[in-house]
Amino acid sequence: MKIRISQKGFDRIRSGHPWVFRSDIQEATPDPSFEYGQVVSVETSTGRPVGQGFYNPKSQISLRFLTRAKDPIDGSFIRRRIREAIARRPFLAPKTARRLVYGEADLLPSLIIDIYDRVVVLQILSAGMDRFKEDIFREIQDTLSPSAIVERNDPSVRELEGLDRRKGILFGNVPGPIEINEGGFLFEADPLEGQKTGMFLDQADNHLQARHYARGRTLDLFSYQGGFALSVSKTAEEILAVDSSEPALEILKRNLSHNGIQNVTPILANGFDYLREAHERREMFNTVILDPPPFVKDRKNLTGGIRGYKEINLRAMKLLKPGGILITCSCSQNFTPKLFEEMLQEASRDTDQAVQILEKRGATADHPVLLSFPESAYLQCWIVRVL
Ligand code: SAH
Repeated sequence: MKIRISQKGFDRIRSGHPWVFRSDIQEATPDPSFEYGQVVSVETSTGRPVGQGFYNPKSQISLRFLTRAKDPIDGSFIRRRIREAIARRPFLAPKTARRLVYGEADLLPSLIIDIYDRVVVLQILSAGMDRFKEDIFREIQDTLSPSAIVERNDPSVRELEGLDRRKGILFGNVPGPIEINEGGFLFEADPLEGQKTGMFLDQADNHLQARHYARGRTLDLFSYQGGFALSVSKTAEEILAVDSSEPALEILKRNLSHNGIQNVTPILANGFDYLREAHERREMFNTVILDPPPFVKDRKNLTGGIRGYKEINLRAMKLLKPGGILITCSCSQNFTPKLFEEMLQEASRDTDQAVQILEKRGATADHPVLLSFPESAYLQCWIVRVL
């Protein structure tokens, strides 16, 4: 089957961006045997060949481009790209966790593969990639020989593709939480019930870097299972780890006891309320870490989302002693580094505090940023000093 795309769609493909939106699909040759997500040939509006991609007219992202080449796309094409992505990652030590395939940035649209020690977690987020599930499964078996393969195909974005939501064990068994060593500490990971695929692997390097800055009284807001809190327990005196998820805090407590850490106090609370109340109690901190869930879900709620970021950053700045460090993150895809900086400028202006930027960091390198796909630069983790 062939589809034609508009000049605008073609310009995107030419720039290296793999998505063409529904509004840039001009026509599709009717095909009675068409199945959603099938690989199609792509042409310009004048009929010049462009390449091939997954086509799903049900989704706003109707075309996910795969290659300029003409060779047929089959299971071995997907398997080769998976193999190449895994080979780019450095050697995996025992008990480590890492992202092995990061979707578009690894030229495998909407496919995520993470590994937790010997358990592989798989996430397929488009109808096109879902058609290759069997091949993906085989490649994981052959290349990684895992002890288990878990599917976390439960994110709601699958519904936008007309796919069901499911999670479960595809192969092997997962007898309990998996032990992971991050930065010299032992963490429990639960790929079946944890958030994302179990841990926030994108923050791994930032957890370690935070150690160089954190000191004194430290607040780790939106702590989850303690990625930042445990890491900074080496350098900070006393850490308050706040999260609204009880299951996350239960694992945090176990992580603390596995590592014999005494200076972290888990607190079950809403982050916004906690900041307000801490301010009312006139509490002060030397370090504040903010790693909230994505407040900007799509471009439509940009303003509301930015307001959320500004509120927590502004309140955090007020809670800091002079010279205090704020480690502030955003994982919203549409909240660009430029908008993030503007939000911080507004927060610092409103609190009347001078703020120095020390480091503008992103995700750990196993979540590479594809230059032509700005969406892959979704994570900001900036380290700033409030004077
Ligand atoms: N800092 C963690 C990841 C945080 S993810 C790490 O590096 O591992 C965001 C966390 O915010 C989740 O644990 C979620 O449970 C929590 N959360 C979401 N909404 C919240 C709210 N309103 N108040 C407090 N925590 C919240």
